[in-house]
Amino acid sequence: MTFAQGPRWKQLERVRNRKGAFTDDDYAPQDQAEFLDDCKILVIGAGGLGCEILKNLALSGFTNIHVIDMDTIDLSNLNRQFLFREADVGKPKAEVAARFVMKRVKGCTITPHYCAIQDKDTDFYMQFKLVICGLDSVEARRWINSTLVDMVDPNVMETLKPLVDGGTEGFKGQSRVILPTITSCYECSLDMLTPQTAVPICTLASIPRQPAHCIEWASILEWPRVFGDKKMDTDNPEHIQWLYEAALARAKEFNIMGVTYSMTQGVVKNIIPAIASTNAIIAASCCNEALKILTNMNPFLQNYMMYTGDEGVYTHTFEHQKKEGCPVCGTSAIDFEVSPDITLADFIDKLKEQPDIQIKKPTITTQRRKLYFQAPPELNELTRPNLDKKLSELADSGEEFAITDPGLPFNLRLNVIFTK
Ligand SMILES: [Zn+2]
Repeated sequence: MTFAQGPRWKQLERVRNRKGAFTDDDYAPQDQAEFLDDCKILVIGAGGLGCEILKNLALSGFTNIHVIDMDTIDLSNLNRQFLFREADVGKPKAEVAARFVMKRVKGCTITPHYCAIQDKDTDFYMQFKLVICGLDSVEARRWINSTLVDMVDPNVMETLKPLVDGGTEGFKGQSRVILPTITSCYECSLDMLTPQTAVPICTLASIPRQPAHCIEWASILEWPRVFGDKKMDTDNPEHIQWLYEAALARAKEFNIMGVTYSMTQGVVKNIIPAIASTNAIIAASCCNEALKILTNMNPFLQNYMMYTGDEGVYTHTFEHQKKEGCPVCGTSAIDFEVSPDITLADFIDKLKEQPDIQIKKPTITTQRRKLYFQAPPELNELTRPNLDKKLSELADSGEEFAITDPGLPFNLRLNVIFTK
C-alpha cells in the first residue's frame, strides 16, 4: 500500500481516481498515488505562507518534501505561523515546521534546510520536480526565478522546473505558475510591483535585513514604546528626524547601510500587516496548482491569479505575457534610450529609478572599457572620474552596457541608444 491511501485520503482519492471534464485524455488515475510518493518537491519559505503550504502539500499526498528557510522563529510569528509554539521561539523555522508536519501526517518526509537559497547550487535545485515559493522578499524571488530559468536545457525536458509563486500583502495576494523560459517569468512582471513592499512585523522586531526594516521598526515598535499614546505625525519634520535617528542606530547595530532622512520619510507612510486568512487562501491556490501540474489531473492556472480581500472577496485570473527583452528569460539586450549629454552619474540615477530594473549599486562595463566599478577600492578610484563625464565621451550610441548589481541575480545587458 502506498502512503496516500486509507480513510484520511478518501476525498483526495475522489479527485485523483476519477477523470473530470477537463482532464487530459492520457490521464491514468491508478498511477497517481505511487507517482506522488516519489515526487520530490521544494518549498521555499517556512513563514506565514510556508506553514500553510507544507501542511497542504502533506495533506495532498506528497511524501517527499524539502523546505528551505534562513529565518528563526520570533514570538510575533505565533499568531499565524501555526506550526510554531512558544517553546520554539529562536529555533529555525524550516526545522520546526518540518518536524511538526511529519508528526501529524505519518508517512510524509520533510527535509529542512536552514540556510539562504543562494547557499544551494544548481545540483540541489535540479533534484526537484517542482518549486513552490512562499516568500516575502523580492530579492529572493528574483534569484530563484533567474536560477530556474538558467537551469533549463531545451533538449532535456527534466531540467524545466515549474515554479509556483505565492505572495501576500495585507488583504491582497497572488499566485502564479511560471514555466521557466516558456511562460512569463517573475522578472517579466517586476514593473507590476508597488514601489514599497510591506514587511511583516516579526522581521522588524527580530532580524532586520534592509534599511527599510530599521525605519519601520522605529516607527511601529520604538515610537509607541518611547512616546506611549502620543500620535506620530508623518508630516512633522521633528518626528521624522527622531525616527531617522532611531532607525540609524538600529541599522548600525545590525550592520545595515543606507538609512537616510528621505528614505525614512518615504517608508513611514506605508505599512501593511500580514493576515492569516490571506495566507491560507493563497497557499491553498499554490498547492492546488502544484497538485494539478504534477499529476495532470486537471488543467493548471494560466498563469496569474490575483486575490483582493479588502472589500468583499474578489479574484481575477489572467495570462501575464512574456516581456520582450526580459533580462532573465529574453535572449537579447534591452534597448535603453538616453540623452548623450547626461553624465554617467545621472545615467546611474536613471537606472535606479527604473521600476523594471531595480538596482542599487551598479557596476558598469562595455566591451571596450570599465565605466564604473563599486569595488574593489582600486577599481572604484580608477573609474570614479567617469561619473562626471558625458555618456557620449564614454561610449557610442548602440553600444552594449553590461550591468551587475548586488540586488541583481543576473547580468543586465542594455543597448544604450542616444536620443538626438
Ligand atoms: Zn522574463
